[in-house]
Amino acid sequence: LALFKRDDVDIKGGWKVGQPVPYAALAKAFSLIEATTKRLEKNAILTSFLLLVIQRSAKGDYNSLLQAVYLCINRLSPDYVGIELGIGESLLIKAIGESTGRSLSLIKADLKKEGDLGLVAMNSKNSQKTLFKPKPLTLPFVFTHLREIALASGHSSQAKKVSIITKLLAACQDFEAKYIVRSLEGKLRIGNAERSVLVALAQAAVLAEKERSGKKWSQEQLATRLEEGAKTIKSVYSELPTYDKVIPALLEHGIDGLREHCKLSPGVPLKPMLAKPTKAIGEVLDRFENKRFTCEYKYDGERAQVHKVEDGTVAVFSRNSEDMSKKYPDLVEQLPRASTFQGCIKETTKTFVFDAEAVAIDRTTGKLMPFQELSRRKRKDVRVEDIQVKVCLFAFDLLYLNGEPLLQLPLHERRKLLRDHFTPVPGEFDFAKSSDAESTEEIQIFLEESVKDGCEGLMVKMLDTDASFYEPSRRSVNWLKLKKDYLAGVGDSLDLVVVGAYYGKGKRTNVYGAFLLACYDSEEEAFQTICKIGTGFSEEVLQAHYDTLKPLETSKPRGDIRVGGAKPDVWFEPRVVWEVLTADLSLSPIYTAAQGLVDERGISLRFPRYLRIRDDKSAEDATGPEQIAEMYERQALAQNGPGKRKKGG
Ligand code: ATP
Repeated sequence: LALFKRDDVDIKGGWKVGQPVPYAALAKAFSLIEATTKRLEKNAILTSFLLLVIQRSAKGDYNSLLQAVYLCINRLSPDYVGIELGIGESLLIKAIGESTGRSLSLIKADLKKEGDLGLVAMNSKNSQKTLFKPKPLTLPFVFTHLREIALASGHSSQAKKVSIITKLLAACQDFEAKYIVRSLEGKLRIGNAERSVLVALAQAAVLAEKERSGKKWSQEQLATRLEEGAKTIKSVYSELPTYDKVIPALLEHGIDGLREHCKLSPGVPLKPMLAKPTKAIGEVLDRFENKRFTCEYKYDGERAQVHKVEDGTVAVFSRNSEDMSKKYPDLVEQLPRASTFQGCIKETTKTFVFDAEAVAIDRTTGKLMPFQELSRRKRKDVRVEDIQVKVCLFAFDLLYLNGEPLLQLPLHERRKLLRDHFTPVPGEFDFAKSSDAESTEEIQIFLEESVKDGCEGLMVKMLDTDASFYEPSRRSVNWLKLKKDYLAGVGDSLDLVVVGAYYGKGKRTNVYGAFLLACYDSEEEAFQTICKIGTGFSEEVLQAHYDTLKPLETSKPRGDIRVGGAKPDVWFEPRVVWEVLTADLSLSPIYTAAQGLVDERGISLRFPRYLRIRDDKSAEDATGPEQIAEMYERQALAQNGPGKRKKGG
C-alpha cells in the first residue's frame, strides 16, 4: 500500500474536481513508469494516476477515465472498431520540423543517434526558445485530436495529419512531446501491457471505493479486495472487451456490480478460448480420465466468431477481434439460411454469437481445401459476385442465444442449443463433425478420418461439468489440440515475430534473403530473438515479404527487443507474425528466447521452416518463452529422460 503515493504522480498545483485531466499528469505518470523496471512500481504508479482521475472526475463523467485508459494502452477505440494510430516516421519528422523550426536533416541525424523519435521530439521542443508558455494540453484535447488524425482519410489527409500534429506539438511542455509522438507512432514503450492496465484500473476502483465509503479494511482485507477486483475485471473484460461499456459500469456500479452489468453482448467480439497442444492420444486419455469428452475435427481455416445483433445485423470477427464482415460478405449473406430453429425457415434465431471455423471449400465436390486456398481471398472490399474461393462455416460452439449468454453452461448443453437453433446448408454451413469417442482406437480412427477429410487433426474438449464452460481468452487444458504433425514427431508450429532481416545473395539481392525471428514474453513485455530463417520461401513469397516489411524498417532495434548476439542487416518494427515449423530445438549462446528458463543460454530453432503468415495474430500473440521451454524439455525428455528447470516450475 505504501507504494500508492498519489503525490508522486500528481502535477504541480494538481487539478480540481471537474476540471479536464491535464495531459501533463499522464505524461508524468508515463515517465515515472518508464523510469522503473520493477513491475510492482509500474503498477503502483499507474494505479495512483487512475485513482486521481477517478477522484477528480465530476459525477457522471465517464470520459476522463475512459480516455485516460485508452491513452495508457495506446488505443483510441475498442479493437473491433479498429481506429488505429501508427503514423509513419517521415510524416512525424515533418511535423516535428514544422513545430520546432529545426531542419529535417538534423532531426533525422538525432533519430539515428537516439533510435527514438519521441525523445528527439522532446529534446527538439525543450531546446527551443519560446516567448510565451503555451496553454496546457488536456487529455480530452489530445484524445480528440489523436482520433481526428487516425480518422483522416482522402487525398489531403497527409497534410491534415501534419497540421494537427504540428498544433499538438506546439503546445507540448516537458515530457509531453515524447509521449505524444510515441502514441502517434503506435508504440508507447513504457513497458505496460494491457493486462497491467486492467489490473491498475481495478485497483484504482477498489481504492476509490474504500476512500469514498470510509470503510476500514485491514491490510489483509485490502489485499484480498485488490486481488479479487483484478480477477473480476479481467474476466469481465475477456467477455466484453470494450472499455466503452466496462468503464461506465465500473464507475456507476463499482467493482462488485461489474459482472452483473457487463455481459457478453452481440456486436462486441469476446476473446476466443484457445487450446493446449498434446502430442499423443494417451495424453488426452490421461487428462480426461473418467470424464466425458468429445473429439471434433480441427478444421484448417480461419477462426470466425459470428454475431447477430438485435437489429438483424450479422458480423464476423477474427481470432483477433477484427471485424471481417467486409472480407466475408458471402458468409454474412449465407447465414440467414442456416440460422433457422430446428430447420424451420419461419423461425429464425434472433440474436446469437457462435464460434466457428471458416474453411475454403470446393462446392462441386464438397471437398475441403487447405488454408492456403483461403488465404488467396482478398481481405477488404470483397464483392460477393467476384468471390472465387467459396467458404463453408463449421460451427463448434454457441456462446449467446436470444438474449442469454451461455458461457456458463456445460459444452454438451451449448452444443445441443447450437444444433437446435441452426440448420446445416450443404457447402455453406455445418456443425463441426464430432465423435464422443472414448478409447485410443476410436480416437485414432477419427483422427485419421479428419486428416483424410482435409483437417489438421482433432480438438478434444471436455463435455460436462464446470470444466466445460467456455473460457474466453484462456488457453485451456479443457480443450486439447491433437494435430497430425505432432504424431509425426514434428511438434507444434510456433508463431514468431519478424524483427530483422539479412540481405539476399545471388538471385535474391533485391529482397531480403533471410530473417531474424523472435518470440514474445508477455511477462517482461519484450521480444526475444530465437532464430534466423531462410528456407521455405518461394521467390514470390520473398517479394511479398519484402513489400510488407520494407515500410517497417527501423534504424535500430526497438528497445523491447532482447537482441542477444544477432546481427541482422536491418531491423523491423515488430508487427508481422509467421507460423514456423522446426525440426529441433537447441541451446544457443546467440539468441535470447527463454533465457534462464532451462539454461542460462537461450533456446534456438534448428532448421526452421516457414509455413505461412499469420495476419490474424498480433505480435503480442506470438509464442511465449514458457511454451518454447516446454517444447525443449519435451524433446530433451524424449531423448535423454528428465532435465532440470531453473525457473517457472
Ligand atoms: P493454431 O496455430 O493451431 O491454429 P492458434 O494459436 O490459432 O493455433 P489454438 O488454440 O492453438 O489456436 O488452436 C485452436 C484453433 O483451431 C482455433 O483458433 C480455431 O481457429 C481452429 N479450430 C478448427 N476447428 C476447431 C474446432 N472444432 N474447435 C475449436 N477450434 C477449432
